[in-house]
Amino acid sequence: MNGPTDEQLKAWGKKRLADWRAAHKQVEITSCPVHMLVGRPCPNADVFYCTNASRWYDHVSLWRRKCDGALILVSQPYDGADVEALSSMCMTHGLTAEIDAGKSWHYPGSTTLIAIEAASDD
Ligand SMILES: [Zn+2]
Repeated sequence: MNGPTDEQLKAWGKKRLADWRAAHKQVEITSCPVHMLVGRPCPNADVFYCTNASRWYDHVSLWRRKCDGALILVSQPYDGADVEALSSMCMTHGLTAEIDAGKSWHYPGSTTLIAIEAASDD
C-alpha cells in the first residue's frame, strides 16, 4: 500500500496549522516553558533543564488558547511520545498532556502533537 505523497503531507500540515491558529495565538518562549505553564519562576539555571533530557520535547511552540486564555505548550516529536517521561513531568509539575497524531503539522504522518497545559484545580 502506498502512503500519502509529499504534496498530500504538506497540504495536511498547512491545514492542521491553520486549524490550530484559528483557536490559538502564538506566544514567545522567554523562559523555561514548563514553568511558564506552571506560572512560577524555574528553579533551574538552565532554561531548558526541565525539558532537555526528554524525547517528548521536539519542535516546540507556546500558544494561548483564544477561548479561555490558557497557555499551551505544543511539542511535536517523531516516533510517538515518550509517555513515561511526559507523564512523570506532568505529575511533578501539576500539568496535563494530550497526545494526538491527527493534529501535528510538523511532518504530519511522522509526528504526534502533544498539547501540555496546567491541570485545573477541580
Ligand atoms: Zn523549569
